Amino acid sequence: MRIYLVRINLDVEKKENFLDSPRIKSVVASIKHYSRVDNKIVLLSHRGRPKGFDRKLSLESFVAALEKLTGKKIVFLPHFDFKRLKKNIALAPAGSVFLLENLRFLTGETRDSRALAKNLASLGTNYVNDDFASSHRKNASLVEITRFLPDEAGPNLKKEIINLSKIIQKPQKPFVAILGGAKAADKLPVIKNLLSKADYILTGGAVANTFLKAEGTEMGNSLFESKMLDLAKRMIRSSVGKTKIILPQDTKKRKGVILDIGPKTIEHYAEIIAKAKTIVWAGPMGVFEKPGFERGSVKIAKAIVESRSFSVAGGGETSILIEKCGLTDRIDFVSNGGGAMLYFLAGKKLPAIDALKAAASRRQKYA
Ligand code: ADP
Ligand code: MG
Repeated sequence: MRIYLVRINLDVEKKENFLDSPRIKSVVASIKHYSRVDNKIVLLSHRGRPKGFDRKLSLESFVAALEKLTGKKIVFLPHFDFKRLKKNIALAPAGSVFLLENLRFLTGETRDSRALAKNLASLGTNYVNDDFASSHRKNASLVEITRFLPDEAGPNLKKEIINLSKIIQKPQKPFVAILGGAKAADKLPVIKNLLSKADYILTGGAVANTFLKAEGTEMGNSLFESKMLDLAKRMIRSSVGKTKIILPQDTKKRKGVILDIGPKTIEHYAEIIAKAKTIVWAGPMGVFEKPGFERGSVKIAKAIVESRSFSVAGGGETSILIEKCGLTDRIDFVSNGGGAMLYFLAGKKLPAIDALKAAASRRQKYA
């Protein structure tokens, strides 16, 4: 009998938002996909950045919600005594679904430990990675484990790769990238990679602020990435006459601090978005959580769904905003990956995806 070890993503910050988080929908889909009457599955995941056991980050608290959402009984495995676990799993009836405790309670997980990977592999017969959002991490349950078991990309992982590949390989033109949010350091490498592919790069949030600062604009206490100013300057210079990095013409401030894009900018961005055939969006235009500063992000979300483009969006806060606007179903693809999506769009390698590819080519070689 097959026992699938399925790597999923339960790394949601607030449990209250758990039931309607898009990541959870993907988890439910994975469970339904692999759980059959004639096999067993063991779910593998992590949550947060614990140092050793941490009750607050135990995965046990997800059991009830997952049972409700999947209609299946889920047996929690609370320890890492692998011999005992193996026995428990073997004795359980066909059709059983197990959830193993937070793998990051073990130091070997983030060190990509071969010993841990081997122990995990001993619990099953097949390995599935269905956790795109963690696939930029070199962790034992994502990378090293592929050395020990026949493996495959799960349905959610495949969807991510297919949709994000459409963005970076031969996007239909005009191709518009919209980058905002607070974490400019993660987004500037994406802009760098998209410079030669996109027609317009619309900026908001701390991303725009970093470019504005690089151009010498007085920023007051506005948020920008000081370590990225040189890169920002170089990108503006190299993009002259080619891809257009567009900066806000007006902004909305409180006490001199930029908190949103202004009305002229919204109008200008909306015109560009209306003509786009391909759109990728990561990072809100402003501090949408503060009443009065959500307008830029909401208008951009609406402009995207009204355009006749193939649209992809992602990032923790970006997807929350889209969900708040009730527009999730009208974006062609909302990625579950925050950091992982940005890695992908920046053209960087994702170790867990490379590991699946390497395992496939090893199999071919010895076939
Ligand atoms: P995502 O999670 O979508 O990838 P980030 O984590 O980079 O995006 O940033 C999201 C946060 O950016 C939001 O919580 C929002 O409040 C903040 N933000 C947007 N614009 C600004 C701004 N001008 N100044 C400070 N924070 C901003
Ligand atoms: Mg975020």
